[in-house]
Amino acid sequence: MDIQTVGIIGAGTMGNGIAQACAVSGIRVVMVDIAQAAVDKGVATISGSLDRLIKKDKLTEAQKADALKLVQGSTNYEDLKAAQLVIEAATENHGLKTKILQQIDALLGPEVIIASNTSSISITQLAADTKRPDRFIGMHFFNPVPMMALVELIRGYLTSDATHDAVKALALKLGKSPITVKNAPGFVVNRILVPMINEAFFVLAEGLATAEDIDAGMKLGCNQPIGPLALADMIGLDVCLAVMEVYLEEFGDSKYRPCPLLKEMVAAGQLGRKTGRGVYTY
Ligand code: NAD
Repeated sequence: MDIQTVGIIGAGTMGNGIAQACAVSGIRVVMVDIAQAAVDKGVATISGSLDRLIKKDKLTEAQKADALKLVQGSTNYEDLKAAQLVIEAATENHGLKTKILQQIDALLGPEVIIASNTSSISITQLAADTKRPDRFIGMHFFNPVPMMALVELIRGYLTSDATHDAVKALALKLGKSPITVKNAPGFVVNRILVPMINEAFFVLAEGLATAEDIDAGMKLGCNQPIGPLALADMIGLDVCLAVMEVYLEEFGDSKYRPCPLLKEMVAAGQLGRKTGRGVYTY
């Protein structure tokens, strides 16, 4: 299947990033959100992001105009009917996603592929909310989408080869480097990343080194662009804790127990950059 028009549900951080990546690659986009203000904000974010690329000489004014012409904002799910692939990138809430998926499953033609950009909900379970589990897949983009090369393609239990291949071809067309993953909590990247961050909190709690030295060690010794504790502050300590709790529950393996220091900091409301204080003070 040749995907020429992509529908996107949600015009937030990820939705508008995915829309931008599609539009600069010449793919038509219909981006739907619940309120016109959210749609307008999403389109304005794309425009601002393209302006920054022009300033860096990575894009011309004409290319920006061409890309923006390919982005249609809407508050009406009916407009998604033009798409061969619809990517759900709405708020991370299972109940909400189930409602959206049931609604679009009833609306879209049977050949249309549905993908979800969820970071934590089971793709097999979301696929089961539709009558097309073979034409359902996880497409996990990374933030900020226009900058990050990776897309995890998550195969649910019933995802077909044709669905996987069509979505992989699209990811390549967007200039991304896809990896294929089976459905499991955290998929691949977050499954490795978040326990590493949790371990950094254990090392800090045991007083083995200062936060600065732990981060310097991982940057200089492992070529990581940012240390795990500074990264935790960026992601949000509450998000890191919630992810570890999901792994502990789903895998039933004590190796995923959240570090008590992480729990204490979250309980104290010290959540990272968003509260002005996490491991570091901002
Ligand atoms: P966000 O809050 O920035 O945007 C979500 C958007 O969904 C909002 O604009 C909201 O109005 C819209 N929305 C809510 N209900 C809707 C509905 N019924 N129909 C249409 N739109 C609706 O959230 P985000 O960070 O863009 O996250 C979106 C998804 O991407 C989540 O599933 C999240 O787990 C996943 N994700 C996020 C990141 C990240 O770093 N932010 C990374 C990878 C994946």
